[in-house]
Amino acid sequence: MVMTARTPADILAALDPEQRQAAQAVSGPVCILAGAGTGKTRTITARAAYAVATGAVAPGALLAVTFTARAAGEMRTRLRALGVSGVQARTFHAAALKQLTYFWPRVIGGAPPRLVDNTFGLVANAASRARLRPGTSEIRDLLSELEWAASTLVGPEDYPQAAASAGRLGPYDAAVVAQVYGAYVDLKRSQDLADWSDLLLLTAGALEDHAGVAEEFRARYRSFVVDEYQDVTPLQQRLLDAWLGGRADLCVVGDPHQTIYSFTGATPSYLLGFARRFPDATHVRLVRDYRSTPQVVTLANNVITKASSPHARLQLLAQQPPGPEPAFREHLDEPAEADAVALRCGELIDAGTPASEIAVLYRINAQSTAYEQALTNAGVPYLVRGGTRFFDRTEVREAILLLRGAARAVDGDAPAALPELVADVLRSGLSWSQAPPAGAGAVRERWESLAALHRLAGDLASAAPEAGLRELVVELEERSAAQHAPSVDGVTLASLHAAKGLEWDAVFLVGLVDGTLPLVHADTPAAVEEERRLLYVGVTRARTYLSLSWATSRSPGGRGSRRPSRFLDGLHAAAGQPAAGSARSPGAGRRSRSGPVPCRICGTVLTAAVDRKLGRCAGCPVDRDEALFEALRAWRAERAKALRQPAFCVFTDATLIAIAEQRPGSVAELVAIPGIGTAKLERFGDEVLALVGAGDTVQNSPD
Ligand code: ATP
Ligand code: MG
Repeated sequence: MVMTARTPADILAALDPEQRQAAQAVSGPVCILAGAGTGKTRTITARAAYAVATGAVAPGALLAVTFTARAAGEMRTRLRALGVSGVQARTFHAAALKQLTYFWPRVIGGAPPRLVDNTFGLVANAASRARLRPGTSEIRDLLSELEWAASTLVGPEDYPQAAASAGRLGPYDAAVVAQVYGAYVDLKRSQDLADWSDLLLLTAGALEDHAGVAEEFRARYRSFVVDEYQDVTPLQQRLLDAWLGGRADLCVVGDPHQTIYSFTGATPSYLLGFARRFPDATHVRLVRDYRSTPQVVTLANNVITKASSPHARLQLLAQQPPGPEPAFREHLDEPAEADAVALRCGELIDAGTPASEIAVLYRINAQSTAYEQALTNAGVPYLVRGGTRFFDRTEVREAILLLRGAARAVDGDAPAALPELVADVLRSGLSWSQAPPAGAGAVRERWESLAALHRLAGDLASAAPEAGLRELVVELEERSAAQHAPSVDGVTLASLHAAKGLEWDAVFLVGLVDGTLPLVHADTPAAVEEERRLLYVGVTRARTYLSLSWATSRSPGGRGSRRPSRFLDGLHAAAGQPAAGSARSPGAGRRSRSGPVPCRICGTVLTAAVDRKLGRCAGCPVDRDEALFEALRAWRAERAKALRQPAFCVFTDATLIAIAEQRPGSVAELVAIPGIGTAKLERFGDEVLALVGAGDTVQNSPD
């Protein structure tokens, strides 16, 4: 990929005066304490680029740590765009793994302990050694307790007291949990295993106890940056201190209002105590929110002002032009809520918002199923975040093996373009086809993974037209080492926790009922406050469209006894919406076409999103013009190719089917089809009407 290094002046020009001050303080200590969307991540990326461009720090001497592999990948991409390569951007875990693998053979000898990624079985084993017979949920709770203890540097003997002072409520009496913890530690030791926490501790230990290791490490790494510092654990801080070894070249950025990992042992106290630890630090406050519309920013400020101890100086000042008011929607049941969200996603996509710029965010992962189903029914592509890591998925590993084999087999000039070659390999080796499967769940996920690899080949081919399978395999290996999953062109389904640091044009916060947000288990005031911050994180992910919704019953025909989240109290009025409880709108999101939609064949009122889009019941007999449908598909493929967008960005399958069935003869009939908004009408209306053979055109239609 061609990189053009930016000059220091170019780099600074993209920042505001406060951001620039932080970027120019290249030798730390620097602390940026600022609210969501104010450009913290942008600033530290620019600071790294500026430090390299001015020669203040060599790229290889800079280590940037962030919270998730996706955030680290994002930082690498942004650095690349600024013309910088060689700066390491990793998670604490990935950085520790790399360092330990390097130092262990020289310090201790042999291979480091084997890393256990999933410790569920090990904890179950430890519990049975402590004569317990826990069920799955007790094992999960034990696992959380053990992780919390390790993250807060608490050993088995100290667990009962530490758990009592932290108000932890484990699945068993603290003395019993301590026993399981002791058995767990023994098991790992006897089998020479390490979990992720051990990995951090062993790396810190290697630096603390071995002068040679410390010396070599410190000669190599001189400058450290930590994003999302409000959620650092004592264990991560210990590793960071070992990296620093008394030096002060550290830049941290964070937002105490976005502390959402306290339950795992993370704490904002290091961020808030930075000035005490480094009295000569440069402090920067950012208040201008560059991400969201004033409407979203007002709501975010209102959510956090109600916190028990809000930081008044972190109030956000909107910089973007105005947009739509956030929508508050109440639904009768969860499937209706999911259908309405899926319908709205389809409308946004039809109106020109890329699917990858839309997110549906929920409190717990179990909530995703209803949305996977509804989006599948509506023909909207999606991806679920937080499942198995991309490069650990079986189908991805198989595909990489096949591609590697194919790369070896191709000699000299490849017979076809890279994306076609990749499609062939995936088709013949893994029975993959370019058309998505109809169902949801595992089949769909497998297809999405392979589609992502195919798309990556397309991206690589457009960035470097001469790239072949070999270059693709190298790119995949680099990404795999960094756990840098390819971005997928679909609506993101993610938990609020996983959405941290990210942003989308449109965000749907769903399932906002009391008991889910705050979660029913949040039984202390501190736990409830953390749940409120989760809502703040959710709200501040949206650039333009924000929808907050809930259902009064779980299933159709339920008692309707659920209440909207208490955090929404008083916010509807503030956002110019009806009060909670009065906004019943089962067909939410259909601005100009609200109200019941009857089936055009049998007249029954339609409830499912996909049925409403088609304008008929799924089971009603139809008279589809197959030739027109094929002509529309061919036209869409051509348009999508010219626009370099996936086909569904032009029109979804459901919209094409609706056009082929309803054969609109006028502009009015065309816009009556759900999914055809003003933008789509202007761009494609005439072409579609011409294909249908209508006399009307968008140009000569009355306003
Ligand atoms: P969070 O707290 O959610 O992690 P953040 O403070 O890290 O947010 P960024 O993600 O860095 O914020 O920035 C938010 C958005 O605003 C990004 O799209 C970024 O490119 C844009 N942005 C930040 N600073 C500026 C600026 N000075 N001019 C224009 N756009 C900016
Ligand atoms: Mg950020």
